[in-house]
Amino acid sequence: TSAHRPPATRTTCGYCGVGCALDVVTADGAVTAVLPARDGPVNQGHACVKGRFAHGYLTSSERLTRPLLRRDGRLEPVGWDEALGHVARGLRAAVADGGPDAVAAISSARATNEENYLVQKFMRVVIGTNNVDNCSRLCHSPSAAGLTASFGLSGGTDTLDDVERSDCLLVVGANPVEAHPVVGARLLRRTLHGAALVVADPRAVGLAAHADVHLRPRPGTNVALFHGLAHVLLAEGMTDEAFLRARATGLPELTELLADYPPDRVAEITGVPAADLIAAARLYGRARRPAIVYGLGVTEHLHGTDGVRTLANLAILRGAVGTDRGHGVNPLRGQNNVQGASDMGALPDLLPGYGKVTDPAARARAEAVWGIQVPERPGLRIPDMFAAARAGELRALWVIGEDVCATDPDANKVAEALEACPLVVCSELFPSETARRADVVLPVASWLEKNGTFVNFDRRFQRVRPAVPPPGGARSDFDVVHAVAAAMGAGLGCPTPAAALAECGRVAPVFAGLSHDRLDREGAVPWPCRDPRRPGEAKLYRERFATADGRAHLAAAPYLPPGEHPDDDYPLLLVTGRRWAHYNSGSMTRRGPNLALDPVDFLDLHPGDARRYAVRDGEPVTVESRHGRAGLIARIGEQTAPGQVFCSFHFPASGVNRLTSGHADTVTSCPEYKVTAVRLVAT
Ligand code: SF4
Repeated sequence: TSAHRPPATRTTCGYCGVGCALDVVTADGAVTAVLPARDGPVNQGHACVKGRFAHGYLTSSERLTRPLLRRDGRLEPVGWDEALGHVARGLRAAVADGGPDAVAAISSARATNEENYLVQKFMRVVIGTNNVDNCSRLCHSPSAAGLTASFGLSGGTDTLDDVERSDCLLVVGANPVEAHPVVGARLLRRTLHGAALVVADPRAVGLAAHADVHLRPRPGTNVALFHGLAHVLLAEGMTDEAFLRARATGLPELTELLADYPPDRVAEITGVPAADLIAAARLYGRARRPAIVYGLGVTEHLHGTDGVRTLANLAILRGAVGTDRGHGVNPLRGQNNVQGASDMGALPDLLPGYGKVTDPAARARAEAVWGIQVPERPGLRIPDMFAAARAGELRALWVIGEDVCATDPDANKVAEALEACPLVVCSELFPSETARRADVVLPVASWLEKNGTFVNFDRRFQRVRPAVPPPGGARSDFDVVHAVAAAMGAGLGCPTPAAALAECGRVAPVFAGLSHDRLDREGAVPWPCRDPRRPGEAKLYRERFATADGRAHLAAAPYLPPGEHPDDDYPLLLVTGRRWAHYNSGSMTRRGPNLALDPVDFLDLHPGDARRYAVRDGEPVTVESRHGRAGLIARIGEQTAPGQVFCSFHFPASGVNRLTSGHADTVTSCPEYKVTAVRLVAT
């Protein structure tokens, strides 16, 4: 019982977007154990191998504890005053030379809400530009765009508790058993209690073994697959006509389009047998309360936003969103605070709470609080920042908590961009690939060392509390942003994280009911939350959708092919994704016991392809695309479909993102990590 638990600090996990509440036990200023909180709102006493055991990085001898400054080509330790002075002079010079838009910042899902709020405020108020983005650009920006277009808000429509009340789960392009294990366990528990399960994923991901139907579309054909399912819903009368009449628009256009997507044609495009498609549509279409859960297999495509919208079509056709007849459309966020980073306005076109920078009313709300004029022109997205740097137009780039040289696609070009940019500032825990190329490296605190809030995948704000102090001279990103502003002679107000969240609520009415005090009392509160005396909205759109006309919008977007195809030169398709013991570039999870659990990066391939290319299990293998090369260890198994190979992005040394292409979602610039044509070459 909890009576037997040692005193601990309650915080929120800083790895995946599930948002598990954790109790962190310390002794003599060091973490000795991390226990899942039994009363955790999302995790209910569970946690995975990442949250529980991946804290050895805290005391790694490789932690950055002093600022580093490049002199004569070498990074040398300096004091904070010298580093901050250099950054301030560099930023001022960049603005003087090229104007405010010659400066850009990449904020972070690893940072708290309050830190993200402060970064975007710094860029808009002190620098005077909207050139601020965050790593949701690389994963769920199509969710933000697609869900906003379909329903009006960028978040998932329901909570995990709602999803767990469903009688049919449609899990698409996600591997929650490995990437979001606590959600994976709850979905599995639901299926063991009788819910139907449809898995749509090219790989035999963990849940597929328990699925009633496993659809294995060719990578890049999601939109055709979703249209095929919608075609069957319409053809077999499984739509909610009263809901469609009262609460949706776009049915005539979609009906006309879906005539082109009968199951046989969809089978040709996707490789999914027509009978399986029909069976899956009937499970979803006949369920009393179906729910959709999806991941990056939907978003990280050339047409990722169309993927989100056409997946959302299914819920709209069934009246399974904004009603008690289903549990909507729910994106699984890969990073702890990727939802919050965007919620806080660390985006080039959106202010805190998703007001558009082009909207005078949204700008006026921010201007009234900040006392400056917010620039009206949207800023650069991350890929455009790199392009601007290579073109000599970007003179200063501040990268916070993201190893862009390891995690962004077409990594050779990212390195070229950093080379070309006169000032690169990097806030980091470790000497990452990006830090090694920076001019100034600022040592910062990790999630176990700082104070603030995160927003998890189902829009719940939860508190983050420091269990231990940061090592040496490392500081929180919150303190560092304030210090850079002060070094430039500017003030940002909101001196504490609590004050920052309170100020954010004045800029963005959807957060006005939130505060640290309230979260300390209540544990978790979902947004929208407009009133401190009322609960947040866990399930969205009960009365009306948040679109301008109050209706859900069906999307009649045709299927368009992905950016790359297998051909004679590059006959295999590479899909990248996550594995169970590691998180993102692995900078934290590889520095501790999780490395022993999952020590090397593999290239998964099908036994038939292994025979064809004379590859043996456990052998080194070199993979080549049109963009670069990577070296991995072959792992042969049926999990990967014939003609496809899979690897993670947790081991940057293998160079996986030198392989991935510059193709990106046509709406949001989210990279197409899920479709790269590759070949195996002699090692
Ligand atoms: Fe929970 Fe995700 Fe952390 Fe695992 S990584 S403990 S599932 S929040």
